[in-house]
Amino acid sequence: MHLKSIPIHTPSPLERLISPLLEEKNIQLWIKRDDLTHPLIQGNKWRKLKYNLSEFKKSQTKYLLTFGGAYSNHIYATAAAGQLYGIPTIGIVRGEKILPLNSTLAFAKGAGMQLHFVDRKTYRLKKKLLPSLNIPLKDCYILPEGGTNELAIKGCEELGKEILDQMESPPDFVIVSCGTGGTMAGLISSFQPPTKLLGFSSLKGNFLTKEIQNLLDQFSPKKNYSTYTIQTDYHFGGYAKHTPILLDFINDFKKQHHIQLDPIYTGKMFYGIFDLIGKDFFPFGSKIVAIHTGGLQGLAGFRERFGELI
Ligand SMILES: *Cc1c(COP(=O)(O)O)cnc(C)c1O
Repeated sequence: MHLKSIPIHTPSPLERLISPLLEEKNIQLWIKRDDLTHPLIQGNKWRKLKYNLSEFKKSQTKYLLTFGGAYSNHIYATAAAGQLYGIPTIGIVRGEKILPLNSTLAFAKGAGMQLHFVDRKTYRLKKKLLPSLNIPLKDCYILPEGGTNELAIKGCEELGKEILDQMESPPDFVIVSCGTGGTMAGLISSFQPPTKLLGFSSLKGNFLTKEIQNLLDQFSPKKNYSTYTIQTDYHFGGYAKHTPILLDFINDFKKQHHIQLDPIYTGKMFYGIFDLIGKDFFPFGSKIVAIHTGGLQGLAGFRERFGELI
């Protein structure tokens, strides 16, 4: 079947994981399979695009334009969604053009995305750099890097509501991997106490708590949020960095649960979840939902660079 004809599959399944450690600690761990929404427009990238695509259709603009690094899941998903819905897309890519294009960018180009490569310094100008590329601003619907904006957060709130609909009672913890924190912000505003939100940062550093608070204040002002915390100890050296321990974990997880994780986001998060369960971070009897945010199309790019390690 042509990939274009595959519809988006929501609600995505919610599955329970079984393991001796979970049994010993009496932890119910559920995985929200947002990796199964679509082979090319997976997980949170679909959630973040959904309402932006309908807004684009209502707008008078010609192009859906966005920004990202050479291996960006968001660039990939935007290109795929553009092809699926017949929307012309433009990708502004950070860094010089390297040929042959890597699998992410080759896919984006093949899906019809117009690619523009800009050096890191120019890239920082974001939409101010468009005139230098002869792209008229008025023709563009601009999605920020990572796709996080108000409508993206609305789409991620829907993910939270889906989870509540699928469960008999609200979970004690909802866990997600964070880049910009946009997905987490949407989830926070869709849950209420006593459910707690826990984010695992894929990036080194301590900026996400503040960043997420800014997103909530700006885009989803309400009072009764779930409380949230960010784990910053499971980045494995930083964004897009990995270690043999992480890759072993991803391979073991696949053997035991028949679910593929990615090395940038969900692998680090699940490693952290099991590590924290082992350390009795979660109270005995906790019910946890962890989100598989997808990103599996990016494995091709990982294998291109590092070999068939996972
Ligand atoms: C982009 C991405 C994230 C991070 O999402 P944010 O909303 O930027 O925090 C998490 N997991 C996967 C698989 C992603 O592709």
